[in-house]
Amino acid sequence: MSITLNRRGFLAGTAGFIALHPFSVSAAGNQAHLRIMETTDLHVHVFPYDYYADKAVDTVGLARTASIIDSVRAESTNAILLDNGDFLQGNPMGDYIAYERGMAEGDTHPVIQAMNTLGYEASTLGNHEFNYGLDFLMKSVAGANFPVVSANIAKTMGASPTDDETLLPPYVILDREIIDGNGDSHPIRIGLIGFVPPQVMNWDRKHLEGNVQARDIVETARAYVPQMKEQGADIIIALSHSGIGSADHTDGMENASVPLAAVDGIDAILTGHSHLVFPSSTYDDYAGVDVAAGTLMGKPAVMGGFWGSHMGLLDLMLERDGNGWRILSHTAEARPISRREEDRSVTPLVESSAEVLASVQTEHDETLAYIRRAVGMTDAPLHSYFALVADDPSVQIVSNAQTWYIAQMMEGTEYEGIPILSAAAPFKAGGRGGPDYYTDVAVGPVAIKNVADLYLYPNTVRAVLVTGAQVKNWLERSAGMFNQVQVGATDAPLLNPDFPSYNFDVIDGVTYRIDLSQPAMFDRDGAVINAETNRIVDLMFDGAAIDPNQQFVIATNNYRASGGGSFPGAMGDTVIFEGPDTNRDVIVRYIVDQGTVSPRADANWTFAPMADTTVIFETGPTGAAYAADVPGVTIEEAGGSDTGFALFRITL
Ligand code: MN
Ligand code: MG
Repeated sequence: MSITLNRRGFLAGTAGFIALHPFSVSAAGNQAHLRIMETTDLHVHVFPYDYYADKAVDTVGLARTASIIDSVRAESTNAILLDNGDFLQGNPMGDYIAYERGMAEGDTHPVIQAMNTLGYEASTLGNHEFNYGLDFLMKSVAGANFPVVSANIAKTMGASPTDDETLLPPYVILDREIIDGNGDSHPIRIGLIGFVPPQVMNWDRKHLEGNVQARDIVETARAYVPQMKEQGADIIIALSHSGIGSADHTDGMENASVPLAAVDGIDAILTGHSHLVFPSSTYDDYAGVDVAAGTLMGKPAVMGGFWGSHMGLLDLMLERDGNGWRILSHTAEARPISRREEDRSVTPLVESSAEVLASVQTEHDETLAYIRRAVGMTDAPLHSYFALVADDPSVQIVSNAQTWYIAQMMEGTEYEGIPILSAAAPFKAGGRGGPDYYTDVAVGPVAIKNVADLYLYPNTVRAVLVTGAQVKNWLERSAGMFNQVQVGATDAPLLNPDFPSYNFDVIDGVTYRIDLSQPAMFDRDGAVINAETNRIVDLMFDGAAIDPNQQFVIATNNYRASGGGSFPGAMGDTVIFEGPDTNRDVIVRYIVDQGTVSPRADANWTFAPMADTTVIFETGPTGAAYAADVPGVTIEEAGGSDTGFALFRITL
């Protein structure tokens, strides 16, 4: 038989996939090879399709992961397929089912339908399963042909975790037959227990408060695992919808997979929630983590990316141990569905499973119709032509939504009552994207597709706690967007072409003016070059000069909050809230919640007047229709340019 690498990189022989995995081949008579396949953080991604952008993509989709699952099964004697949670929410198909179609009694949720098609053996709940409320969750889970386990969410709490009345079964013990190296069949009892970050009580307070309570992950595991052992589990696998973080257990920690792995009796651990890959160099420097061995605290572990990007695979070599089984050795890997090339293009590594696609074809078609029709109305035009020169509706709606969301998240925390500001930057603002690269939504219906336009990146929401002084310097950093302008200049170029628009944060909730006659405080990379400058003038909060010592909460995104763009007050040490939700989802929820949105810019920032001074900038020529209505600034057309952009003049 000739063996060749086919163009997708699989070892293929004349009979298709190469025969058994080496592990299975090497299993002796008292040994058996068990393959644990994990998907995690699917977030309703079944089709390889970006519904926000309304286009097919090769980087996501359970239909693609399914091909890897099929090939692993084809080369296995013993394999089980598990999901690690966050399946119900996270793309417009999820929103369509929750907000439009609903879950009537007896309906099957499309992602569950796809999972049933693939024959999952079990799943656990992720934090996002709670986003649409408990009724929606329970109806969705009811359609699963496999158990969904969750040990640390209780309807009523007892004295210890094992006394709780849990929302779903805390664990399941699967009775299976396993084939050993001689081809003989033996019984094996595989225990599966699930965990979710207890932070769900804050993130989905409005759905959960008074209905369920959450327990610490490690505390819960310590209580249940001995019970599972007593009930005859040969091996126990933790479905940990929790990331890989500190090795030191602290009560209620969100990313608890390392201390969880240390719990006696847990044999292997599936992780997730972080949307990352394990094993990978991401985790090289983590205590308790061995990337080369694929272990957490010495236990086999895997994390299979997100949105179906990877399938996590644990290959366990089991050995008979009396009447039971123990893990002799293992390998761990995350198999990707696509490869990013050096030129950033994407090469698919597998094809979609036709069967899985077919299982959700109806809902896929309905979702396409959903993203293309209105989810709400805007009573002001939503455009970004002037986002770099004036307060702007496309940035305003992002800030409105972020403020709305963070206000809910601060309720009941120690930060409740601290004024909430919001930082947002224009993403789609010409530049290298060209003269058509602007948001432009007329008054009237807003579709989901438009939201992708308003927020191009799948960032997640963060809040930081800063001082008034940091608010001022944050804005000084933003003001690097502009060239210094001499008083009395005629048609001076306004915009610094080296400054990316995504670093031009507008802060909503304060008012300020930008004095273009002053030099910039920071260079392009955020290094201080003029410490004493004051481009930001008349900075006011609540109608009075800002108090440099007053505390503010600023709603922003994970990129900025963790030091992206090197903004003062946003260097990673001021984060007080890490939201599980993308800014994009928050905008969709905000629009659905409000019905009609009024993203009218409030002109909370303007340029400071300069006598006899004009500046020139370019934007998309279509913006001309809106120029006269831009608040807080006087804009006139000043001709075309040879790049397709149109020139406009501001009289300062
Ligand atoms: Mn997730
Ligand atoms: Mg504003």
